[in-house]
Amino acid sequence: MSQALQSHVLLLNGNTWEPLSVITIPRAINLLLAGKAVVIEQSGQFLRTVRDKYPIPSVIALRTFINVPRRRAHWSRRGVLIRDNFTCIYCGVQPGGSVKGKVITKANLTVDHIVPRSRGGRDQWTNTACACYACNHRKGNRLPNEAGMKLRWEPKTPRTSYLVIAVGNGPDGWKRYIEFE
Ligand SMILES: [Zn+2]
Repeated sequence: MSQALQSHVLLLNGNTWEPLSVITIPRAINLLLAGKAVVIEQSGQFLRTVRDKYPIPSVIALRTFINVPRRRAHWSRRGVLIRDNFTCIYCGVQPGGSVKGKVITKANLTVDHIVPRSRGGRDQWTNTACACYACNHRKGNRLPNEAGMKLRWEPKTPRTSYLVIAVGNGPDGWKRYIEFE
């Protein structure tokens, strides 16, 4: 994401500056105007309204520490691919492996909805998995058992460290707030 395209703000916890979530610019500005957060880094961009002009923050932190036991990881396609280590849940192929004689790259790996969206399946961690284009095509709008396909593992909701993906996709300035384990 380049600076020009920044549309979100990194929210840090109070005191610890641990990343809490990636929020929209209006929500960030509301937190600032309500005195609940302070600006840590500006984006250099401005939000213009008829009467006013607000600097758009890039990183803000809550004024006080909040105890967040287990936050739900934000779902994303990239997050699913990373969670599944770019491995097809049906045939197990990974980048560098081959399907029908064709060498697979990361670009050939897709996100499959186990219960297809056309049948009410949602963008959820437990309903999505990495699948190669061939398996995704073969499965089509069917359930795995209808297509005679088996899941090699059970897709799970990751822990909050997957916020790392959202942060990793953000501006470079956010990366210093990620704690790698
Ligand atoms: Zn496959």
